[in-house]
Amino acid sequence: MIDNLREAYNAENFRKEGHKLIDLLAGHLAKISNGEGKVLNWKTPDDQLKFWEEHIGSDHSLTDFFADVLDNSIAIHHPKYIGHQVGATAPVAALADLLGAMTNNGMAIYEMGAAGTAMEKVVTGILCRQVGSGDNADGFITSGGTLANLTALLAARKAMSERDVWQEGNKEKLGVMVSAEAHYCIDRSLRIMGFGEEGIIKVPVDEKFRVNTGLMKQYLDEATDRGIKVIAFAGSAPTTATGIYDDLEQIGSFCRKNNLWFHVDGAHGGAAVFSSKYKHLLKGVEMADSVVIDAHKMMMAPVLTTFLLFKNKVNSYATFHQKAKYLFDSQHDEEWYNYARRTFECTKLMMSLKFYSIIKAHGLRIFDEYVTRQYDLGSSFAEIIQQHPDFELFLPPDSNIVCFRYIRKGLSENELSDLNARLRQQILENGDFYIVQTQLKGATWLRVSIMSPFTEVSTFKELLGYIVDLADHI
Ligand SMILES: *Cc1c(COP(=O)(O)O)cnc(C)c1O
Repeated sequence: MIDNLREAYNAENFRKEGHKLIDLLAGHLAKISNGEGKVLNWKTPDDQLKFWEEHIGSDHSLTDFFADVLDNSIAIHHPKYIGHQVGATAPVAALADLLGAMTNNGMAIYEMGAAGTAMEKVVTGILCRQVGSGDNADGFITSGGTLANLTALLAARKAMSERDVWQEGNKEKLGVMVSAEAHYCIDRSLRIMGFGEEGIIKVPVDEKFRVNTGLMKQYLDEATDRGIKVIAFAGSAPTTATGIYDDLEQIGSFCRKNNLWFHVDGAHGGAAVFSSKYKHLLKGVEMADSVVIDAHKMMMAPVLTTFLLFKNKVNSYATFHQKAKYLFDSQHDEEWYNYARRTFECTKLMMSLKFYSIIKAHGLRIFDEYVTRQYDLGSSFAEIIQQHPDFELFLPPDSNIVCFRYIRKGLSENELSDLNARLRQQILENGDFYIVQTQLKGATWLRVSIMSPFTEVSTFKELLGYIVDLADHI
């Protein structure tokens, strides 16, 4: 073998460098979980690019190189990381991820990922039971909520349209009803499927930002009158921007009554089925024909790990096949162990291993502990905002997502939006905290998702004080 190639696969080097990497990561975790250091070291995209263009040709030890990666990466476990909905990876799952990368089992067919395949069936079964989908339920793990939603909608079309779209292409005008506040990936998926603008029936939200269930019938009738065959309703649990859950029970009954496929996008908050305190938010999810839950958001798994669950497993087999669904035998699984028959991916990551490792190390109750703690913090933060004269709360939160803004007397709506956008940009560039912003009712609001298990009530008080100080100088 060429020396360089031999060196690349040297087991002793791997052992040595691997130990150093674990030491580096453990030190990093100890530091950031304590709130030390910045959440992110801001560089402009062009400066970041320049840094790495120069880095690739210069001399560094592997450990220095890895340390530079850490320095230039946002610290998700930091208590002051309260931005987007990416979860703080459980360390055991990071170790499992390394195992998955080294074994590189491709998962498409059984023997290319025997352990991962069986683990996938085990953990998918656990989730189906927790959701309450019934004895016929099954599903799989796929690469992200976006792909899972697309796959669920493809399954819905397969099951609900009278014609065989898989074979003939789109011959009739189909439509899906969805909240006007749903994640953009639903809209994108339907466009990919050729539904076009008119096939995406957006039902407005009520004053609490839940889909206005009083308008569902009217929107269905109007779409039907326009010649659209509505096949499904996609509820959000919760919506991304505000973290508010749709009334799944009402949507579910509406779907039953009108023969619609009931899809639940629980990418963020489906995990609350594990929380004894908050599972009531998902009441009605047990009726859903398909459910998406991202384990990389509220279930401590690394990106990407997403569950797609089906009430009737037959539908999970039918999605990508020409065979009519009645030809699938619902009595026993059709090659359950060859997951690529059911997923969009051919080769896919050993996502099941990471999730399984969390349950194995910490038990299922870890999800209750995590979700309940983070959702409780959402309410605590909302109270603190309401008590502060310089801030306005958008809505009492359902979850760990909270929207609010800084207010100043005498400013117009536009000026308030501008001020909050500038505050958020300054916070980003300072790097002491990380929060995001969102557009609601045409205005710019600040937004947090409380993801780190190290965030405390005191973090919020500090954040508000920090914003007030910034606003004095902006
Ligand atoms: C995050 C999110 C998605 C997208 O999931 P990815 O895993 O980022 O692809 C879809 N829907 C909702 C409600 C989400 O919160």
